[in-house]
Amino acid sequence: MTTNKIIRECRLCSSKELKTLYDFGKIPLGNNLLLTFDESITVKLYPLKVVRCQNCNHFQLNYSVSPNLLYATNYTYLSGIGSSFINHIKNYTDWVTKKCNLAKGSIVLEIGSNDGSCLEQFKKKGMIVCGVDPAQVPSKIANKKGIKTINSFFNIKAIRNIKKCIGSPSVITSQNALAHIDDLKNTFINAYKFLKDDGFFVFEVGYFKTVLEKKIFDTIYHEHLDYHHAFPLVNYLNNLGFSIKNISLNNSQGGSIRFLLQKSKKAIISNQVKGFLYNEKKSILYSKKYLDSWIIQIRKNFDKISKIIHKIKKQKIPIVGYGAPTKATLLLKTANLNYKDINFIVDDNNLKIGKYLPLHGIKIYPTEKLKKYEKVFIILLAWNFSVDIIKKLKKLNIKIIVLVPHPKLEVLNL
Ligand SMILES: [Zn+2]
Repeated sequence: MTTNKIIRECRLCSSKELKTLYDFGKIPLGNNLLLTFDESITVKLYPLKVVRCQNCNHFQLNYSVSPNLLYATNYTYLSGIGSSFINHIKNYTDWVTKKCNLAKGSIVLEIGSNDGSCLEQFKKKGMIVCGVDPAQVPSKIANKKGIKTINSFFNIKAIRNIKKCIGSPSVITSQNALAHIDDLKNTFINAYKFLKDDGFFVFEVGYFKTVLEKKIFDTIYHEHLDYHHAFPLVNYLNNLGFSIKNISLNNSQGGSIRFLLQKSKKAIISNQVKGFLYNEKKSILYSKKYLDSWIIQIRKNFDKISKIIHKIKKQKIPIVGYGAPTKATLLLKTANLNYKDINFIVDDNNLKIGKYLPLHGIKIYPTEKLKKYEKVFIILLAWNFSVDIIKKLKKLNIKIIVLVPHPKLEVLNL
């Protein structure tokens, strides 16, 4: 799939009855950092609208940008950057090894393996690992570290290649990558076919109930085509032949849901999963009233952020964004802020330094730049790493006021 297209069907149940949850208008690809100011403010815009399937309640975007445009060249997200994420995947790989009873020498395949951070942990446990990822830069980094990574989408060609090299996997895993995949159904079908008999499919994706509850709307962007919760996925994957063994929630990436599935002769749904689904059906994910008023609450919060920033601007304190994650573009657009309000952005990822955030014309510098100032006001754009970042900022010995936009709007004096 190499072209942009409007999605008219539910990605899971194929129903054509899709209702708009919210239309964000046209925004640029958040991960597409630009080399110049002019390129930044004239960048191409694409529709961003979330729709809800009236049949199975699955949430998704109604427009998909060509994956080649999103990932092939300019994709700079590296999963190894945040230390809390590394802790999370250490716990995750312990959990998977235990639940799937993995012996040393088992084959583990990861879909969307990025820089190999997760597979590195499985390798340390003695597993044979292989990753597949369409993004060039992270794949190169993984291969350099000795984590075999095929720079490709997870398709039949890649599968044949892996089968030849290492055989069929005992576990297929995926960390926050499935929401990025346009051809979701075929990914699930291929994972099912490729797994060994009784093999496990374990994955984590962002949990949309948390996005709705905490109003962290900026995790919605073109790269995330789907916004998952348990019920539509359980239905689809169980029909495909997977036993749904366990579902749990965790705080990774602002709130994730973890699925443990097994390729079994008889596809069952465990009692634990049935209980989870029962509670989910009673939640805000199914409340028309909550869903209808969701964006109104968000707008109120962002009017507040906008007011705080404009007050600080009058006091002539430099205003700096911390982090240039994909979500920053939508967050700043919603708060109506650009280069006239934010002096610059700092980021810990070297690949982003010297570039400009799309649309807003704000340049990205190394974190060291902060040391040149006596006092700064920081808006935490990479708010999902707030604990790590605040720790780092405290060590700088300068006066810092930090605005944390999510999950609760807070202003802290460090
Ligand atoms: Zn559906």
